[in-house]
Amino acid sequence: MKIIEIQHPLSKHYLTILREKSTTFEIFRSAASKLSYLLIIEATKNLELDEKTINTPLTSTLGYELSSNTVAVSVLRAGLGLIDGPKDLIPHMTFGYIGVQRNEKTAQPENYYQNLPEIKGKNVFILEPMLATGGSLSFAIDTVKKYEPSKIFALTIISSPEGIKLISDKHPEISLLTASIDEKLNEQSYIVPGLGDMGDRLFGTV
Ligand code: URA
Repeated sequence: MKIIEIQHPLSKHYLTILREKSTTFEIFRSAASKLSYLLIIEATKNLELDEKTINTPLTSTLGYELSSNTVAVSVLRAGLGLIDGPKDLIPHMTFGYIGVQRNEKTAQPENYYQNLPEIKGKNVFILEPMLATGGSLSFAIDTVKKYEPSKIFALTIISSPEGIKLISDKHPEISLLTASIDEKLNEQSYIVPGLGDMGDRLFGTV
């Protein structure tokens, strides 16, 4: 699996705001949104461009346009915090949603909601801010794979070594872009040092 840990100073700046426990949820949302731009810029670095001839006020010249082959899939609910960058920067981006929860009896991830646009042959960017055990991201990747995408990119804010291992064992062909690879998971499967519960901090729930 290709893993990119973003080193841009802006990424470290906004991640620090997210980690700080006294950050208000308004500032937290804004920092998550800013990180979503940095992640999608890095993830789309090698996407193909279509060439087209355009006219400047002075002459005609060669221009470029991103092909309309990109889909973002947000894993509910924390993945909603990473939508801004893909929505604002990538023309023609379509959006899908996958809701995954842990079955309390079997401890297996199960799907409670799914709404996906056309995926076949497209580049899919899965938005899952916290790669902890990897269960829900792996489930989302398995779901997307059934629809025969071209390439899959997972965008996370923080990744645990345990989650990275699971995803790279199960899905070695995908690319992972993350703002940080943290130390470990604790006994409750929270990432340490982490930022706490991403969904609660984004939406002001407890
Ligand atoms: N999900 C979160 O929101 N935070 C963690 O630390 C792990 C999973």
